[in-house]
Amino acid sequence: MLEVRALAKHFGGIKAVDNCSFTAEAGKITALIGPNGAGKTTAFNCISRTMAPTAGEILLDGERIDHLKPHQVTRRGLSRTFQITRNLEDLTVLENLVVQSKVHGWRALFEPAITKEELKKAEEILAFLNITRLAYEETRNLSYGQKKLMDFGALLMSDPKIILLDEPAGGVNPSLLAEIVEHIRALNGQGLTVLIVEHNMELVMSLSDKVVVMAHGEIIAEGPPAMVQTDPKVLEAYLGGT
Ligand code: ATP
Repeated sequence: MLEVRALAKHFGGIKAVDNCSFTAEAGKITALIGPNGAGKTTAFNCISRTMAPTAGEILLDGERIDHLKPHQVTRRGLSRTFQITRNLEDLTVLENLVVQSKVHGWRALFEPAITKEELKKAEEILAFLNITRLAYEETRNLSYGQKKLMDFGALLMSDPKIILLDEPAGGVNPSLLAEIVEHIRALNGQGLTVLIVEHNMELVMSLSDKVVVMAHGEIIAEGPPAMVQTDPKVLEAYLGGT
């Protein structure tokens, strides 16, 4: 289980995240939603330790991870995607999976050689994602959606217990979105815990076990999708154009 306790991230006078507490239960899909600028990505950045929190505690399976470096967090079993794909354009898809997993800490960078095991694992992941045909394609030739799928694959290289997906539906066409949803469901079915930040409400409501709503850096509601959807505070936050 992921537990966020009184998390805060301030940028000078801006309280991007303030006193946020919520949980993502093991084996469940939790969505973090909220209007633009609510603080969702900042919270994600703090949880994955790509950003140092100003205050608060983050616990993974009861152990604090908020003092760790990003690659150490990955080794504890938490992997994340980024809103904007961050690929190495000259490498093939297969190479990207392996190299990204090294960079993100599955194997230390001082072990630069690509091992047979890493290649095998990357091939298995590409097969799972139905993109084996892209294995030897240079990343620069991929569509945006294919790059998103590749990022998703890179995330799985570290054998995570929990994955954080930052806007998995963003900029993706409907058929690819359906594929991504299927993959998320399949992985969750295998016991993987999922935390997503997403603006596509249809996706959030159909996919999530629990929805956590942020506005102005604070949590304003938390509960099952049907409950959150009708919460007056949530409606006001969205309709108020905050
Ligand atoms: P969106 O849905 O539009 O991606 P969000 O909910 O992810 O928004 P954040 O990107 O976390 O929101 O931003 C929260 C607030 O913090 C915003 O007011 C933003 O301008 C501010 N902010 C984020 N990063 C920084 C930064 N590095 N320096 C200063 N302010 C920042």
